[in-house]
Amino acid sequence: MVVSTFPPSRETALSRLAQFVPGAGRRYETGRNTDAGPDQPAAVSRLSPYLRYRLVGESEVVSQVLVRHDFDVAEKFVQEVLWRTYWKGWLEMRPSVWLRFQEERDRQLGSFPAARAIAAAETGLTGIVGFDDWARELVETGYLHNHARMWFASIWIFTLRLPWSLGADFFLRHLLDADAASNTLSWRWVAGLQTPGKIYLATADNIARYTNGRFAPKGLAREAIALTESPIEAAQVLREPVTHDVRQPSLLLVTHEDMTPESVFDSALDVRSILVCADAQLLWGDGARHFVSDAAADTAARASAQFGCTAHLIERLDAQTLIAAADVAGCKHILTPYAPVGPVADALAQLTPKLASAGITLVQKRRAWDSAFWPHAKKGFFPFKEKIPALLRESGLV
Ligand SMILES: Cc1cc2nc3c(=O)[nH]c(=O)nc-3n(C[C@H](O)[C@H](O)[C@H](O)COP(=O)(O)OP(=O)(O)OC[C@H]3O[C@@H](n4cnc5c(N)ncnc54)[C@H](O)[C@@H]3O)c2cc1C
Repeated sequence: MVVSTFPPSRETALSRLAQFVPGAGRRYETGRNTDAGPDQPAAVSRLSPYLRYRLVGESEVVSQVLVRHDFDVAEKFVQEVLWRTYWKGWLEMRPSVWLRFQEERDRQLGSFPAARAIAAAETGLTGIVGFDDWARELVETGYLHNHARMWFASIWIFTLRLPWSLGADFFLRHLLDADAASNTLSWRWVAGLQTPGKIYLATADNIARYTNGRFAPKGLAREAIALTESPIEAAQVLREPVTHDVRQPSLLLVTHEDMTPESVFDSALDVRSILVCADAQLLWGDGARHFVSDAAADTAARASAQFGCTAHLIERLDAQTLIAAADVAGCKHILTPYAPVGPVADALAQLTPKLASAGITLVQKRRAWDSAFWPHAKKGFFPFKEKIPALLRESGLV
């Protein structure tokens, strides 16, 4: 049921994008904050599951929008797309924040005494109108409007006073677009951790206004104090992408971090075989697992046509499977689109030395879009945002 609203194919992503593009200017700017409810027309694109797994890329989305609209007309939409890029770049330079979230979530899972309160919040039984509806909508559809995510997170933290990490975990287990960077850092932002001291407080008036009067919850916290934490690490230098000899016969590995390998790697590469991995253990929820599993079949068909060899679907990202496949294909190089901070990157980091001891080099290739924008995600979004027009111009990416 979840997947039917978001058919998991690149073709759907592209047709959804084409339908959305005419409204990416003023219509988006004025209507994007309104959440009229599931199944209602919306000014937002509902492209996030496709962007999350890169069935369509940020550069494609931005470039198609800018073909139709001048930058100043579509600026708001372009900036929103760049929030995803910004969060990924920010976390890439501070991987310990992802680790810190997981430790905090596990600690709370093991010790938070009010399990019933969590269960009521997750099943929509708190009695707070709107909040309960969003909890059910999330579980049923795998998607929530951005404003509903903000209201939900704010009420979870400041009205219900539940641990933010368990709310972030609830989102990860149900969102189709569940993502280490966007989810963790958005919850941190609402809680006042990401921009220390600055919280997002949901109000009944704002909710009533932007839900077209559907909800006006009573009893919301009227003031709140930002959560605090010990200082986080300074921004690290970005991992340098590894270069490789393009003439080497290679095995292409595709993970759910980037499911359009045909725009990452040149079709002239000597690709001997392709593995498309949908590893359920590296995803948090069943909705996302189904989405990725179907998208993997779609990706395999495209990649096979592009690189002219067979694509195999695999369900485990482990060294044994990769070594065996590389052996059969006669390759000592495995190429894969770059995996940003998250479970896939962790899995690749673990298996890289095992591949090396079998004489196999794993090469992760980062997209030009990420290389252009990520280094500028060292501070807040405001200085990053200021650079967007120049970076788009300079990089020739759109
Ligand atoms: C508490 C919270 C948790 C979130 N968790 C996730 C998550 O796990 N995965 C995820 O992909 N997004 C997450 N978001 C960001 C955002 O809510 C969704 O990407 C957005 O709702 C997607 O809907 P759309 O495609 O219709 O957006 P549109 O408004 O049409 O935006 C177009 C695209 O821009 C990007 N974008 C827009 N707003 C944001 C934003 N605030 N942050 C990052 N990217 C943005 C997305 O790629 C989106 O598809 C979270 C936001 C909050 C407040």
